[in-house]
Amino acid sequence: MVVGAGPSGATTALLLARLGHNVVLVDRARFPRDKACGEGVMPPGVDALRRMGLYERVLATGARPLRGVTYQLPGARPRVNVPFPVPPGGGPAGGLGVRRTTFDAVLVEAVRDEPRATVREGERVTGLLRNASATVTGVTTTAGEILGRIVVAADGLHSPIRAWSGLSVPPRARMRYGLAGHWGVATSARDAITVTLAGNHEWYEAPVGPDLLLVSILSYRSRHPVTAREYAAAARRSVPALRGAELVSGPLGAAHFHQRVRTVAEGGVFLVGDASGYDDPTTGDGIAIGMLLAERLAKHASDFLSGRISADAAAAGYARDHAVLVRERRRLTQLALFLARSPSLGRRAIGRAARNPAALGKLVAINCGYETFRDLTPRDWLSLAGI
Ligand SMILES: Cc1cc2nc3c(=O)[nH]c(=O)nc-3n(C[C@H](O)[C@H](O)[C@H](O)COP(=O)(O)OP(=O)(O)OC[C@H]3O[C@@H](n4cnc5c(N)ncnc54)[C@H](O)[C@@H]3O)c2cc1C
Repeated sequence: MVVGAGPSGATTALLLARLGHNVVLVDRARFPRDKACGEGVMPPGVDALRRMGLYERVLATGARPLRGVTYQLPGARPRVNVPFPVPPGGGPAGGLGVRRTTFDAVLVEAVRDEPRATVREGERVTGLLRNASATVTGVTTTAGEILGRIVVAADGLHSPIRAWSGLSVPPRARMRYGLAGHWGVATSARDAITVTLAGNHEWYEAPVGPDLLLVSILSYRSRHPVTAREYAAAARRSVPALRGAELVSGPLGAAHFHQRVRTVAEGGVFLVGDASGYDDPTTGDGIAIGMLLAERLAKHASDFLSGRISADAAAAGYARDHAVLVRERRRLTQLALFLARSPSLGRRAIGRAARNPAALGKLVAINCGYETFRDLTPRDWLSLAGI
């Protein structure tokens, strides 16, 4: 059984059902549901959608193809465009700007279409069921009990299941928070995410529909934070496209991003997506990595459920794949936060990249999992340092 029907949980449930297993997918929310997000799906997430045969269905909801990321300082000077890289094996490059309401609903509908899957919405999981040897055998919910040979926790950043199963590591006090709102702005001329580094915070703009611009802020807590009440005025002051525009929905918020786990699989519980550990949304890859992790988890879980390997082997195999998928991305997030936190370094790095964007392009490729830090040359490091 799978708890949480966001992109990580829905992908896991869909793939397990397609591999021939009976799956229950349960979420406390009813879909379509909204969530604070920058709503950019990075290229590996788009690749995963294509593998699942869902790319066209997502596009039909009004999702917007994205060709890259534009980094800039306030006032748009300097400004550098970094195109998304082509995947190593070839194929189309590009991300997608999506509305979480429709994007997540497409995935949940795809699960519902599978004869072996049951979707239960509006049902909150309240605890874990265990057998005599303390292995988790299911969950209790607001509607009763659900048993499962494995329990997949895809219940998000502040995962209750991660806490109940003893897999959480106490979080470090990283005081970052985010707010996201939708604005009525013509987006036909936009085909990139725009990131504006503005001192102790960043603004993100993403086209997510024909006349819909998502504008989010990620910030360190400061003496003068941008609160939800001040979001609209601060966004209008900082993002020129919003002057005179209408705030259509939001803002929604989230905080305490840095979450770590002792292990990602143990005692019948498998953690996936944000529930399996998180750093910060700054690199915008949470949806994509959640779907990639779900693919690996579905494979190992299926091997166990089909009797090909033991539960311990499935847990170990998934933990190995998880480490490989997140290692370089976590380093990249640390580097991005370092640059975001040091205004003078960020300014120099973008100034240098405006003249030669190759090094910044390699960082975007690392974020996609197409390159690694080993591919950065000393010249690239100097360029990132603004030298
Ligand atoms: C401000 C901000 C900007 C971001 N920008 C981007 C971006 O541009 N691109 C990107 O890829 N990522 C971005 N992210 C991160 C992205 O939103 C997450 O990484 C992604 O949603 C993780 O998906 P998930 O399926 O793991 O969890 P979620 O999408 O959070 O889904 C978890 C689900 O679990 C359910 N649930 C929780 N508890 C229970 C319970 N007890 N019982 C039943 N159900 C439960 C919830 O209702 C929810 O539907 C951003 C995040 C923030 C906060």
